[in-house]
Amino acid sequence: MPEYVAPRGTNDVLPSESPKWEYVEDKFRKTCRLFGYKELRTPTFEYTDLFTRNLGETTDVVSKEMYTFQDRGGRSITLRPEGTAPAVRAYVQHNLGASLPVNKIYYVGRIFRYERPQAGRYREHTQLGIEALGSIDPAIDAEVISLAVCFYRNIGLKEFELKINSIGCPECRPKYRQALVDFAKDRLERLCPSCVRRYEQNPMRMLDCKEQNCQSALVDAPKLIDYLGPECREHFEKVQSYLRDLDISFVIDPKLVRGFDYYTKTAFEFVSGKLGAQNALGGGGRYDNLVEEIGGSPTPAVGFGLGLERLMLTIESLGIELPVEIGITAFIASMGEKAHMAAVKLAYELRNKGVSVDMDYTGRSLKAQMKIADKLGAKYAIILGEDELARQAATVRNMASSEQITVSLSELADTLA
Ligand code: AMP
Repeated sequence: MPEYVAPRGTNDVLPSESPKWEYVEDKFRKTCRLFGYKELRTPTFEYTDLFTRNLGETTDVVSKEMYTFQDRGGRSITLRPEGTAPAVRAYVQHNLGASLPVNKIYYVGRIFRYERPQAGRYREHTQLGIEALGSIDPAIDAEVISLAVCFYRNIGLKEFELKINSIGCPECRPKYRQALVDFAKDRLERLCPSCVRRYEQNPMRMLDCKEQNCQSALVDAPKLIDYLGPECREHFEKVQSYLRDLDISFVIDPKLVRGFDYYTKTAFEFVSGKLGAQNALGGGGRYDNLVEEIGGSPTPAVGFGLGLERLMLTIESLGIELPVEIGITAFIASMGEKAHMAAVKLAYELRNKGVSVDMDYTGRSLKAQMKIADKLGAKYAIILGEDELARQAATVRNMASSEQITVSLSELADTLA
């Protein structure tokens, strides 16, 4: 074991793997732009009260998972444990609502949660997220969901399930909460200690518990969708109808609640059978009151966050081949000091002309340099020796066919392109 290792629950993405990650991130960005979403970059840390006051004090994230510390100025700072509150904070701070009726933003950001690490669950992970702020139209809920579906399909992922639910609004929830509490009252001894606490503090969270005993105790619990008021019910029906129009299949999961208290109406989650216990690929929902709670004018909104690490695990376990380019166009193998100096210049010239090039910096034998060219996935090796230099030319070897031709240095870029 080396003396220094990455902290528990974190991951290194090595250069041999990172082209795949770049590919997926790039597909996400392109999909967002297709749907009219633009990137918002916010800081990795925020003042702590943005999260403590807006995510829900009794949520797992706020009560036990945040990376919170005092900075040297004595301010309480938290590494962002989710992406929506920071996005809304920026939306309100920069008054984005004044310039456009609907603001559509996406982000790619690191998220920090002090969770118990296991496969697919880390203390630092990456979320690809979007937020659409400014519309109550159920069509935009469907747009948000369809963007995720389109993105998953764009990277070749077809095996996932979409679960949806409506968790109502502050008007319909109290009645439901009471019904749930009445139901759970006689089953408290079957619940885990966390759910007993949830029963007291935030009963809807019990529905989300992964413990088998809790799930079976609550299997016949009342369903929130039976308690929705007319407005929430109509909204939910319209979201479903739009999804059917878009040919997006879904199942209604009446027990689906999201991890934060700001959600209203639509809630959804994408799950993959390939992920074991941590099967949530991504999720999101509507949050019609959060903008106002963060200090903006009332603005309905909806969004999602998709976990990049879990997505990469799913891609791998399904054996999906991503069409990534890992190689370079050419590797310059040089022999002798003069040729080495010429190689430095030639590499720079070729790179400036848009040809991807690498070269040797270790003074190895020609044979060893050719091996490196092969390892780097170079399509061509450009061989530069004293003879070639004297003729202002290079030998270009096609690495796949081993065919060799001589090309004058002035024509090299065009030939390689
Ligand atoms: P959440 O904000 O908890 O709904 O998370 C959104 C998505 O981020 C989840 O569906 C997961 O794909 C991913 N995610 C959440 N927490 C973690 C974690 N601790 N490690 C890795 N991925 C996570």
